[in-house]
Formats: sequence, structure tokens, C-alpha cells
Amino acid sequence: MLTTTQTIAWLNNFADKIETNKAYLNDLDTPIGDGDHGSNMVRGLTAVKATLADKSNADLTTVFKATALALISKVGGAAGPLYGTAFLEMAKASKDGVTDLGILLATALAGLKKRGGAATGDKTLVDVWRPVLTAVHADRLTSTVIKTAVERTKPMVAKKGRASYLGDRSIGHLDPGAVSSGYLFTALLETVVQ
Ligand code: ADP
Ligand code: MG
Ligand code: MG
Repeated sequence: MLTTTQTIAWLNNFADKIETNKAYLNDLDTPIGDGDHGSNMVRGLTAVKATLADKSNADLTTVFKATALALISKVGGAAGPLYGTAFLEMAKASKDGVTDLGILLATALAGLKKRGGAATGDKTLVDVWRPVLTAVHADRLTSTVIKTAVERTKPMVAKKGRASYLGDRSIGHLDPGAVSSGYLFTALLETVVQ
């Protein structure tokens, strides 16, 4: 059962990792995008941190919803509505009484795929979300699972987003959104999944 305290700790940890790696995420987005993924995510996660500062007594739905709204309004770019949708779906599911992490993440991934239209192997954040979800369901989420999923985006040809304009020239680069999702799940591992 996922609690408000755990979720706030998870998201604050994620925000810290994004802040620390802002320049790196921008650098990853430079050869296959427009060099702003780190800046976009920092803007969003700064707003998430601010909105969660007074939510320690709120319910899980409120926490997810506030997170989603901060991400949707502040990240901008392709990643904003995608991460935003993921958290909005978790807000909806938790409102229906779901507190199981695996079910919440499955709902989030379904929303993300529906919103962005990306399939597995399209070199997007979906390529990290899907294997992580499988691992969470099997109670086997480790940092290796996350790292492997992120690394696997390197040889992929981008089929969605700006990187897809490059076709085969997107090969050999990590997907920036996959890397930021790697931080999301490393933060999850450090705060929620022991
Ligand atoms: P923008 O490309 O608009 O500048 P960002 O740089 O913040 O936005 O985010 C780029 C990331 O968004 C990519 O690395 C990829 O992981 C993700 N992305 C882009 N389009 C899609 C999509 N249709 N479905 C899933 N993820 C996507
Ligand atoms: Mg970009
Ligand atoms: Mg952009």
C-alpha cells in the first residue's frame, strides 16, 4: 500500500535527481532533440516540490493530482503532458481506492501510451516504464533493471517525438526521457520499494 508520506518522499527524491542532472539531460537532448529536457523537467519538478510542501496530511489522490497539474503546467515540451498524464491516471485510480503500486503504475503506463501513441521499442520513456512495471509486478525492481532498460534505448531508432525526425541518426544516443524516467524509478526504489 502506497502512502502519502512515501509518495512525497519519492517525488522529492526524483526532483533532487532531476536538479542534479539538469545539464546532463539537456546534453542528451541536444544531438537528438532541442537540448531542453533537463531545463523542462527542472521547471516542472521545482513546481512539484513547491506544491507538495503543504500536502503531508493530504490523501494520495490530492498528492498525485497536484503533481500532475504542476507537471502539465510547467514542464512544457512533449514530456510535460506525458508525465502529467501518468500522474493524473494515478490520481484517478487512487480515487477509486487503488493504493497498490503495481496497479497504479500500470494505469499510468496505459495513460502514457494512449496519450503519446508510443509502443515498446520506439525509443521513448515507455521503454523504461514497461520493464520497470514488469519488475514491480514480480517484486524484482532493482537498479540493474532500471539501468538496463535505460541503456537499451541507445541502439533504438526513435519513432516518436523530435528524435524521430532524425530516423537512423537517432541510433547510438540514449533517449533523454528514458533517462529521466530512470531517475523517477531509482527514486522510487530508494524511498518506496525496499
Ligand atoms: P520536446 O521534445 O518537446 O523538447 P522534451 O525534450 O522535454 O520535449 O522531452 C523529450 C522526451 O519526450 C523524449 O526523450 C521522449 O522520451 C519523450 N517523448 C516524446 N514524444 C513522445 C511520445 N509520443 N510518447 C512517449 N514519449 C515521448
Ligand atoms: Mg527537448
Ligand atoms: Mg522542447
